[in-house]
Amino acid sequence: MRIGILGGTFNPIHYGHLLVAAQVREKFDLEKVIFVPSASPPHKNHPDIAPPRDRYQMTVLATQSNTFFSVSDLELQRPGKSYSVETVKELLNIYGKDTRLYFITGTDAILEIFTWKAKEELLKLCQFVVATRPGFHTAKIDKAIARQIYLLKIPNLDISSTDIRSRIKEGRTIKYLLPEKVEEYIYKHGLYKL
Ligand code: ATP
Ligand code: MG
Repeated sequence: MRIGILGGTFNPIHYGHLLVAAQVREKFDLEKVIFVPSASPPHKNHPDIAPPRDRYQMTVLATQSNTFFSVSDLELQRPGKSYSVETVKELLNIYGKDTRLYFITGTDAILEIFTWKAKEELLKLCQFVVATRPGFHTAKIDKAIARQIYLLKIPNLDISSTDIRSRIKEGRTIKYLLPEKVEEYIYKHGLYKL
């Protein structure tokens, strides 16, 4: 089995995330891509982070129509901070050692890998696939890291959750930045207004 993992805050999930997952899935002929919303992200401290359950629910809504996509609440069930290396080990336990895991990130995330827990072990446990992201230069990736990852050029979608949140605060449109069902969920539950 070849399985992709896309971790994220998904605060909220948007078309950038879905595009990355679809492009990597096709490129490596993955059987599935598992979206893993993080509970308490070790590298972020958003004052405006939506409750884990809402982020999970929005991720489910966004991925529902793609049979290759699924959502895992592994990191939401684990108490305390979530580290990717622990998630990967749990997934290897669940799917078995014959499974090849593809750890998917955008360029911005890999530029921060020096802060990650057990990065060397993580790089050994799975194949890293790093997708291009507008505004983040792949040339800045550490040379030693660059040798261990697969860099995938994907169409540029300059969409971020940060921009979506600030648009909501300012009462501006978020249409076509994320799936309609997620947009409806956000308004129905009054997320990101403050
Ligand atoms: P925030 O602005 O709150 O940081 P984000 O849009 O960066 O949100 P994350 O949940 O932080 O979304 O990202 C999860 C993963 O998806 C990361 O690996 C990130 O690099 C990748 N990603 C997110 N948006 C894009 C995009 N538009 N193009 C390529 N990769 C992306
Ligand atoms: Mg981010």
